[in-house]
Amino acid sequence: LTTMTETIAFHSERHPDHTAVLTSSGQRSTYRDLHQASDAVAAGLAALGVTAGDRVAYLGREGPAYWEVLFAAARTGAVLVPVNWKLTATEVGHILADCDARVVFLDGDHPLRGTTSRHEVVTDGDYPRWRDTPRPPAPRHEATPQTPLAQLYTSGTTGLPKGVVLPHHSFFAIRDALAAAELDWIDWRDGDVALIGIPGFHIGGLWYATQAFHAGATVYSMPTFDPATVRRAVSQDGVTVAIFVPAMMRSILASGADAAEFAGLRKVVYGGAPISEALLEESARVFDCDFAQIYGLTETGNTAICLPPEQHVPGSVRLRAAGRPYPGVQVRIVEDGVEVPQGGTGEVHLRTPAAMLEYWNLPEATAATLVDGWVRTGDAGYLDDEGYLYIQDRVKDMILVGGENVFPAEIENALAAHPAVADVAVVGVPDDHTGEAVLAHVVFRPDQQASTRQLMLFLRGRIADFKLPSRYQVLDAVPRNPSGKILRRELREPHWRGHQ
Ligand code: ATP
Repeated sequence: LTTMTETIAFHSERHPDHTAVLTSSGQRSTYRDLHQASDAVAAGLAALGVTAGDRVAYLGREGPAYWEVLFAAARTGAVLVPVNWKLTATEVGHILADCDARVVFLDGDHPLRGTTSRHEVVTDGDYPRWRDTPRPPAPRHEATPQTPLAQLYTSGTTGLPKGVVLPHHSFFAIRDALAAAELDWIDWRDGDVALIGIPGFHIGGLWYATQAFHAGATVYSMPTFDPATVRRAVSQDGVTVAIFVPAMMRSILASGADAAEFAGLRKVVYGGAPISEALLEESARVFDCDFAQIYGLTETGNTAICLPPEQHVPGSVRLRAAGRPYPGVQVRIVEDGVEVPQGGTGEVHLRTPAAMLEYWNLPEATAATLVDGWVRTGDAGYLDDEGYLYIQDRVKDMILVGGENVFPAEIENALAAHPAVADVAVVGVPDDHTGEAVLAHVVFRPDQQASTRQLMLFLRGRIADFKLPSRYQVLDAVPRNPSGKILRRELREPHWRGHQ
């Protein structure tokens, strides 16, 4: 199997009655249903004039319709543009205009209903009638592994959202590499029920769901992430594997979950943002299953690096690593345009067969990120002597304190180990003496507290003195984007107003 169209045709032939999609509200469709429905949607798209290369946007919560539109787009050769439904009208407007969407699928209750300029198809209410209207079948588009399948917009934490164009191969390359090398780092099985914790409009969720479809497994969709739904999905609905960002794991644990509820869980794949060792160890206790960490970017077709289950040994220094490359993926560390020797710190570059084709309509940005087949990640990191990659943080988030480099993620990791601390976010703020100073935002666990002095004493000896936060601020919650990343810009901005 090398394309999504082959995938759905294969599994609907192989096990038509097997559940392809199950939702938290109890909707269930088999592989036969999904195949038929996606062919019907493809016919609807063709009737609206959609042809190969056109963009088709989906702006709504995940349910069976989302997966039907994915396979329908693939069948017509159109490119799916999944849009984060939590964005503001202006943000959505930018994306729809940028990709020039020919058709927009959207939730019935979406505030933008009736305002998007091209064709709109509403995914509830009218949708089944629209989909099931008899029409001639859409011409089958013959995709190659390099045909664009999806265009995902970066969340914009580093600037205006850019459309990352990913071919079918981005969703097959890693699976094929693991299979060829007989590695079970992330082993999808057709009997699995795979919970898509990370939203499907994000590369993590879309990638994980496509892997489940390739395996002929069941994709478990939730309209929105919520710990109670996840707990019910595992304890009652038969979920066996799941993908989360670290912030989701934290909120599941904070909801009072206990190990007995997770007896059916076989494996958790996590990534998308740095994880603290404290959170990883608590998760290991409560979920009591295998773990695999993934590291990558939308631009690398999601994961290029994996920390396999056997490296999740409590207390091991490897727990700090993001992992090592999949077979066929290369990693190098570059500083000032030169590859640094093993152990040295610099920007992480990745060469992966799953990489994006380009940023949509942005040749300059493409040329700056995709250099001679290498993706410049914007992350700082280093490699150990066995080729494990350690991510320090985004280069742009580095704090310069009196000439020393401080990475927020390291301080966050150290503070997260304090028993009273539930969550933490560190940023650099202006300082007259040192240029920048370290400010730690702390969220305490319910009914717990610690003084600045206690936090300071706790950190001493765990991190070097120049990294110690000189300021603390208590928050109710850390602001994060849907992929679990701390919105550092939001936390930084008030302090930098008036400074350049
Ligand atoms: P933007 O670049 O606009 O913020 P985004 O948040 O959508 O867009 P993604 O492609 O989702 O970007 O995120 C990629 C980044 O996520 C990586 O560059 C890295 O900083 C972080 N990341 C992903 N996985 C991990 C991981 N396992 N450990 C630490 N950081 C990770």
